[in-house]
Amino acid sequence: MKNIILIAPPGAGKGTAAKQLVDELNMVHISVGDLLRAEVKSGSELGKSLNEKMQTGKLVEDSLIFEIMRKRFAEPDTKNGIILDGFPRNTVQAEELDKMDTTIDAVIYLDVDRKVLEDRIVGRIVCPDCGMGYNTNSTEMMPKVENTCDKCGATLIKRKDDTKEIFDSRYDTYMEETYPVLEYYKNKGILYNIDSTNKDHTFNEILKIIESTGPMA
Ligand code: AMP
Repeated sequence: MKNIILIAPPGAGKGTAAKQLVDELNMVHISVGDLLRAEVKSGSELGKSLNEKMQTGKLVEDSLIFEIMRKRFAEPDTKNGIILDGFPRNTVQAEELDKMDTTIDAVIYLDVDRKVLEDRIVGRIVCPDCGMGYNTNSTEMMPKVENTCDKCGATLIKRKDDTKEIFDSRYDTYMEETYPVLEYYKNKGILYNIDSTNKDHTFNEILKIIESTGPMA
């Protein structure tokens, strides 16, 4: 059982890599963005205020994220090994994670050039049912049938925050708030960097890193 964190700028492929890991190693994918979007979809008052914040590309308040994460960590499936996607996103969250009852084996940084990311984000479409990601700007990531999920057949959707303007804001937020988290884990000796321009290379490197941290108990 391994617990890993994926850290990356917007569009670097955290979600895609996490889905591949779920299929290959049966790990549990915890995407904070997906948990927040589920709350928005529920139409609750909390969801409405979250939506406003998320549409600007800024981070949601730490206290709320801690509440959501504590609840999620309390569920039994998290004992099978987790992939944290989108948490921690600043150093305060990293410190708080240290206080939670979850040991992290590796923090994997997916590094991609800013211009490549912008093209990916603007072309990104996702499956609302199984979470699989696709991209209309990349031949290797287009769905086989237009607008249809290869895995489950659902109609693909575009996330509201996948625009050039929101990308710029999210990237700036990432550089200011999330990038320093890498230093935090580097100092702990559990940070690994991967050039994530290519999807298959990224996945193979992630598997190698997980193996290098010891046997899957
Ligand atoms: P994502 O799907 O991971 O790109 O997250 C979408 C949006 O949700 C972000 O732009 C933030 O507004 C919010 N969000 C996700 N994770 C966090 C977090 N750990 N802390 C604060 N806000 C978050």
